[in-house]
Amino acid sequence: MILCRFVEAGRPRAGIVIGDRVADAEPLLGAPAPRLEPLLALDGTRLRALRAAAADLGSRAGARGVYRLDQVTLAPPIERPGKIICVGLNYRDHALEQGSEPPAAPMIFAKYVTAILAPGAAIRLPADSAEVDYEAELCVVIGKGGYRIPEASAFDHVAGYTIINDVTARDMQRADKQFTRGKSCDTFAPLGPWLILREALPDPHRLAISLTLNGRTMQSSNTSQLIFGVPYLVSYLSRTMTLETGDLIATGTPGGVGAARKPPVFLKRGDAVAITIEGIGTLANRVE
Ligand code: MN
Repeated sequence: MILCRFVEAGRPRAGIVIGDRVADAEPLLGAPAPRLEPLLALDGTRLRALRAAAADLGSRAGARGVYRLDQVTLAPPIERPGKIICVGLNYRDHALEQGSEPPAAPMIFAKYVTAILAPGAAIRLPADSAEVDYEAELCVVIGKGGYRIPEASAFDHVAGYTIINDVTARDMQRADKQFTRGKSCDTFAPLGPWLILREALPDPHRLAISLTLNGRTMQSSNTSQLIFGVPYLVSYLSRTMTLETGDLIATGTPGGVGAARKPPVFLKRGDAVAITIEGIGTLANRVE
């Protein structure tokens, strides 16, 4: 099951993706549903009923509340998560290109939520950076919150997955003692295109992941290269911080980032960046 957010009549609402269409969740729920978080808290039975109702509606041509996906404006699946937790150097091939040993423990940093950007919207180059880079990442969305979650039950706390571009100003990242400023510029967290629920993607550790810049493949790897997998990360993070519904974990980027290329490649006005993860979809953004 795939959930999305889209803008209709000037405001965002939750939707259920049915093939090439999206069904507005509001009439099905009988209540306004501007966010996905309440849906992530529903139990499996209610979610399946919602999906069946959406599929029924989607099969009727011209039904009210059903739109063609290519004709709606998508919004970020989660717009105001409590936190965006990022994992650095979490792909073997990326650690190698950085000349770093694979880390013994996850390397954790944060991105502020004001960086979140809709699928299809423009990444803005900040005046203070000349080295804006892309990072294709599998993003975990937390469902049921928790503290000190055992690794064995960590998947019970994963609602599903989406794609994040961990856009980074490399010059700021290097100039500061830590990463926060260079990772948190407005528009530096394109997120989407939608949220695929965990049951539809039972193994997140064998997915092809790639990024193209103006149609040229810059990153091409597989989540099997992840050093620390999803259950370990959920358990590790929740040892020290409470994870809440809607929290995002950006699991790290594979090799091929612009800064590691010779010569380096940075984003410039007019560029088109697209990240594809097998089983999820494609997150495309332009640069201005
Ligand atoms: Mn990253």
